[in-house]
Amino acid sequence: MEKDIILELEKNINKENIFQDEIMAKHTTFKIGGEADVFIRPSDVSELSHAIKICKKYKIPYYVIGNGSNILVKDNGFRGVIIQIYKNFNYVEIIDDTIVAGAGILLSKLSKKIADESLEGFEFASGIPGTLGGAIYMNAGAYGGDMSSVLVSVDVIDNKGNIITLTKDELKLGYRTSIIQETNYIILKAILKCKKGNKDDISSIINDLNNRRRTKQPLEFPSAGSTFKRPVGYYAGKLIMDSDLRGYSIGNAQVSEKHCGFIINKGDAKADDVIKLIHHVTNTVKDKYNVTLETEVRIIGE
Ligand SMILES: Cc1cc2nc3c(=O)[nH]c(=O)nc-3n(C[C@H](O)[C@H](O)[C@H](O)COP(=O)(O)OP(=O)(O)OC[C@H]3O[C@@H](n4cnc5c(N)ncnc54)[C@H](O)[C@@H]3O)c2cc1C
Repeated sequence: MEKDIILELEKNINKENIFQDEIMAKHTTFKIGGEADVFIRPSDVSELSHAIKICKKYKIPYYVIGNGSNILVKDNGFRGVIIQIYKNFNYVEIIDDTIVAGAGILLSKLSKKIADESLEGFEFASGIPGTLGGAIYMNAGAYGGDMSSVLVSVDVIDNKGNIITLTKDELKLGYRTSIIQETNYIILKAILKCKKGNKDDISSIINDLNNRRRTKQPLEFPSAGSTFKRPVGYYAGKLIMDSDLRGYSIGNAQVSEKHCGFIINKGDAKADDVIKLIHHVTNTVKDKYNVTLETEVRIIGE
């Protein structure tokens, strides 16, 4: 990226938070992805707002990430600026049954804090390896719960650079969708509400759900979780297994033998391998069952 633009970014963003030609494989749970021209980890709202202002001024594409646990970055990387919310924006404050937390906090950490206060209803999120912001964007969920069951409101930066509050209803949360996917707002923080419960019961639910994950999911390999959304009336993993694709590989990308809904990186897989495998799986399932699989994982870059 041109030196002038980097200098403009540095006017209001600490140099230590700006990285050039940053390998995205380091920032995704798939451990895949080429270089982003610029990678910024803003330490606060002012640095974040400045990054967006400069991107808009020079018409540079930018993309916000949390923990990169639901994205696949292509092998030639991202031409533009990746803005990582994870690692900063990770505060949490709990008063009675109300939780105020920054978008960058990991769900595992947040669920532990909530459980420590004997608040129930957030157990479902403890094993999802994303940030609060990514989870709201995706309306992440598991084992019968999702973000809509605990959210009260969210503060975002809108497209004019203003900070506005959206209520849960305004977020239009559906199965792995939210209005943020259409508006491209940036989530800064959220208010959640949980009910008082019994601490031991909450811990045992969390332990049980995490054991179920360890038994059923290929957590020993890098992945982005379930590659496909659940088609109405079916389970993606079962359709893929019944299509005889268990263990099917292209390069080092493989349909997990443990859970066919996951595509895993067996070691140095290329994004290109994963994308070819996604197409193969989608086409095979379509031919065999006339069901169209849609990816849950978001694919970016070139
Ligand atoms: C092993 C494994 C298990 C998983 N299990 C589950 C599961 O049970 N249920 C489930 O729903 N998901 C699951 N996932 C997927 C993933 O963890 C979730 O989708 C998670 O919510 C993504 O959060 P993230 O911070 O990693 O977001 P990222 O992957 O970094 O980003 C995902 C999307 O959110 C957007 N985004 C992120 N942060 C912000 C922000 N602050 N403001 C605006 N947009 C933002 C990004 O632009 C991107 O489009 C799993 C993934 C793995 C690897």
